[in-house]
Amino acid sequence: MRIVFIGPPGAGKGTQAARLSEKLSIPHLSTGDLLREACQRKTEIGVQAADYMQAGRLVPDDLVQQILVGRIAQDDCHNGYLLDGFPRTEPQAEMLDRILLQRQTPLDLALELKVPEEEIMTRLDSRGRHDDQREVIHRRLEQYASLTRPLLDYYRSRDVLHSADGIGNADEVFQRIEAIVDQIAD
Ligand code: AMP
Repeated sequence: MRIVFIGPPGAGKGTQAARLSEKLSIPHLSTGDLLREACQRKTEIGVQAADYMQAGRLVPDDLVQQILVGRIAQDDCHNGYLLDGFPRTEPQAEMLDRILLQRQTPLDLALELKVPEEEIMTRLDSRGRHDDQREVIHRRLEQYASLTRPLLDYYRSRDVLHSADGIGNADEVFQRIEAIVDQIAD
């Protein structure tokens, strides 16, 4: 199964994606993790991506594409994979469509983890974040709203979008996700 996971920062997406990848025995591919690893290993892509990441800006598409195409081509992705943190923009969604078409492997599911922004700010407040961190999160939420949220319509119009309510504890949320995945797998 090939899945893209979409949700605002702070929604618990990483945790749920990890659980789902375990349930389905498919790799959890986080472009953030792949890019951080490339930075640490000081690969050519990593060196070029580092400044953007430190500034909290999106890494240019050609670099993200290179890292993703390389990863998807590995053997463990043969039966599918779960993408977390990609696509983040409509051009990236189009890029993914081209990659999938070339490999003749359609996308099975775009899964939205739905948490209202007010709820995310409340969660952050309860964790006692400092103002500067709150500002960074605000910026990332704005980026999500303007660049990533339009992807919901993109995938809805392709009939692959399903939304799971992200409010509640991690087990409750995961049960909702499992219900969606089980329905699709049928
Ligand atoms: P994340 O771990 O998903 O929050 O990503 C950490 C950082 O990696 C982001 O702030 C971006 O600089 C970069 N990044 C991750 N995914 C992407 C993507 N799909 N497109 C561009 N940059 C990305």
